[in-house]
Amino acid sequence: EAKKNGRGRYQVFAGDMDDLLLRKRKVESELRKALIGGTGIKLNYQPVFAVDGRAILGAEALIRWSHEVHGALPAAQFIAIAEERGLIGELGKWVLLEACRFAVRSALPWVAVNVSPLQLRDAGFPTMVAAILAETGLAPTRLQLEITENVLLENNDMTAAALVALRQAGIGIVLDDFGTGYSSLSYLRRHAIDKLKIDRSFVRLLGTEGNSTAIVKALIDLAIALNVDVTAEGVETEQQKALLVGMGCHQLQGYLLSPPLEPVQLLGLPGLALPGEQGGQATARA
Ligand code: C2E
Ligand code: MG
Ligand code: MG
Ligand code: MG
Repeated sequence: EAKKNGRGRYQVFAGDMDDLLLRKRKVESELRKALIGGTGIKLNYQPVFAVDGRAILGAEALIRWSHEVHGALPAAQFIAIAEERGLIGELGKWVLLEACRFAVRSALPWVAVNVSPLQLRDAGFPTMVAAILAETGLAPTRLQLEITENVLLENNDMTAAALVALRQAGIGIVLDDFGTGYSSLSYLRRHAIDKLKIDRSFVRLLGTEGNSTAIVKALIDLAIALNVDVTAEGVETEQQKALLVGMGCHQLQGYLLSPPLEPVQLLGLPGLALPGEQGGQATARA
């Protein structure tokens, strides 16, 4: 039975407890089926822009699952179920393979892939990533992995070693949703990373709430002092963009610049299709 919220979206986690377990099991088996059958799951790509708001520096792969009955399910919800039910390894591998395959047939400078903390705990993770790069022919420097700061706080030797190995291979390590986890700044000293992404929750209140504005400024200054790139996510207004540019932010991502796009739409943007790949023709043909 579909439980819906005010906006008519199917909510896996709504309702009473008995129902909840049943629904999670059902979602798990349906997700498994989708994964095996290659139906219903796909990736969209949200471009990341330089501060001029025009040049596309790369794109973040974001998973989408269209359920045959309930329609689009929020990524954060079914990712959480995949983590809980032991499916995230397989799902994460599919995402990585799909994103690398896409990047290699585009002129995108890089593609960023979100990685679950559970995937990083698997000792075979760096080898799996290397195998996918070899199989698809994508240069390691064109892959970025987005991890959350909670991964670093675990203080797990294996995770630390995996991050070092990935970075040594040339893969970019990005700290996603920066500032929202159980933050300790000491991991920035212990772990080498390539980029900080400032969480949308801070960007949203930029210019309207003094504390958020101060925090964003401090995070940008921190990134600059550490000599790493910094991206603001969830940029929705011209005012936010202007403030971020003024504060020296390097990269912008958000609905103001572009929503997540279908692969063919992304390839249709100027300069992103390789010769011989379709993309630019998508609108001409329609
Ligand atoms: P995230 O990695 O922080 O991704 C950014 C989220 O913000 C995405 O939501 C994106 O669609 C949304 N977004 C981008 N610009 C704007 C904006 O201007 N305004 C607003 N309100 N939202 C914006 P999405 O696609 O629903 O993904 C939610 C989360 O699910 C992601 O947060 C990430 O943690 C997770 N996720 C998505 N795809 C994957 C995946 O392939 N693997 C894993 N492990 N996690 C994923
Ligand atoms: Mg992300
Ligand atoms: Mg993020
Ligand atoms: Mg976020």
